[in-house]
Amino acid sequence: MGDHGDDDKKAHVVVLASPGMGHVTPLLELAKTLVLHLGFHVSFLAIPAEEASPAQIHLLRSPNLPPDLHVIDLPRAHVSSTLRHDMGVFSRLCVVVREALRFLPPFLNQNSVNALITDPFCLAAFDIFDDDDVSVPTYVFFTSSASLLALTFYLPTLDEMVVGDYSKISDEVRVPGCKPLPVEDLINDVLDRQVLPISNRLPTVAGILLNTWEELEPVTLRSFRETPFFLQIPIPPVYPIGPITKRDPEPAVKSSTSHANLISWLDKQPSCSVVYVSFGSGGTLSAEQTNELARGLELSGQRFVWVARPPAEANASGNFFNAGDEVEDPATYLEQGFRDRTEGVGMVISSWAPQEEVLRHPSIAGFLTHCGWNSLLESIVYGVPMIAWPMYNEQRMNARMLIEMGLAVKPEVGEGKRVVGWSEIEKVVRMIVEGEQGMLIRSRVREFQNSALRAFNNGSLACVANQWKVESGL
Ligand code: UDP
Ligand code: UDP
Repeated sequence: MGDHGDDDKKAHVVVLASPGMGHVTPLLELAKTLVLHLGFHVSFLAIPAEEASPAQIHLLRSPNLPPDLHVIDLPRAHVSSTLRHDMGVFSRLCVVVREALRFLPPFLNQNSVNALITDPFCLAAFDIFDDDDVSVPTYVFFTSSASLLALTFYLPTLDEMVVGDYSKISDEVRVPGCKPLPVEDLINDVLDRQVLPISNRLPTVAGILLNTWEELEPVTLRSFRETPFFLQIPIPPVYPIGPITKRDPEPAVKSSTSHANLISWLDKQPSCSVVYVSFGSGGTLSAEQTNELARGLELSGQRFVWVARPPAEANASGNFFNAGDEVEDPATYLEQGFRDRTEGVGMVISSWAPQEEVLRHPSIAGFLTHCGWNSLLESIVYGVPMIAWPMYNEQRMNARMLIEMGLAVKPEVGEGKRVVGWSEIEKVVRMIVEGEQGMLIRSRVREFQNSALRAFNNGSLACVANQWKVESGL
């Protein structure tokens, strides 16, 4: 892990990523952009997950990574004694990250580093360091919305106002200068006090890179610049550098014939005719919801690609890092006959699809998505209208934004029901592929697709990155 002689003349940025595709994907893409378009040398420090995810390994071991991008696995920490199965996802992630971060200061000491970019989870663990352990300018790449960033800044204030359980908050959280956030969109174990360490650390960083752009979140981005609340904290400079999404598709894993078959099947479908259904890297449905979804897709009569996982009940231990890796034949948990009846019309892919390749395919008409921030950006970048199916984390906030902006339709859970029924699913799938509302949403998404392209080309990442070169005399 010593200095890289040949790269002495290039500025050297270290990118630090916690496990999980929602972090690794955009941070790696940021690293690639710094190397390929801005002439940096980047060391990408990956924190090993509890168990390595095949998708993550594929991404980080890709032979197509540029030569000036060095992926380095931080040594695997011995955390098994500290990790317990009854711990929540967030606590487990914190343990893994904290242990691995012990290896960061020696790395920074042995290399000359001009800037460090980290995701928020890693930043939260920086309390293990003394002041001089990390003396390089540190930036956060916030891998979600400006709205979630605003809320994160507001949480310490909310914490003082609301003693005890957040369920005491009456209806909405009013972050100054921002749109009110309905409380039902927020309360879960992540947007709870567990996020406070991130909130408390964020004001100390040199800057925050945000995977968004002005036209996508104008109100919140303006409030960062103008609202007294944010000016008083004060918050560090915020750089909306998005959308940072995968641009050059990784060829499907060689061994994965199912992925190759999927793309050649899509090649045979009419333009704008297929609905892609996926719940991100970790989402699983209940058995009841899985059945309703299968029936709704079938009865819609529309073409579909469904990235299916065994029902949530089968994965009760909830291994967050690996939820997407259980390759179990869907025949074992889908209703008998479903695949025969939908043969030729729909493809069921087990666990993981090459999402970016799918979304950019001309046959795709819509995306039934869990509304993870990366999925949502990818959908916009490829101009695909969405069906919003939020599940956890900040996804309900993201879904609301999509609906308000006319980029998605949301299936309703009927009165007194626990799941979205098949007829509602049938309705929204038809609507997005062939309905009038689907067409309106498509043209709206295409406006944002153009806006995304303009934002991508306007060089906001270059502005902040060039400061690092100037500061290091290069
Ligand atoms: N992804 C993928 N194939 C899948 C599921 C997810 O390639 O079957 C990728 C997706 O393209 C995105 C990332 O994994 O880049 C998931 O990030 P997101 O923020 O959407 O959701 P998360 O998984 O963090 O909830
Ligand atoms: N509250 C909130 N966000 C805010 C302001 C208030 O969540 O931006 C909470 C507040 O802590 C209280 C509830 O919402 O639990 C009602 O607050 P409000 O100030 O509207 O009412 P009051 O102070 O009159 O009870």
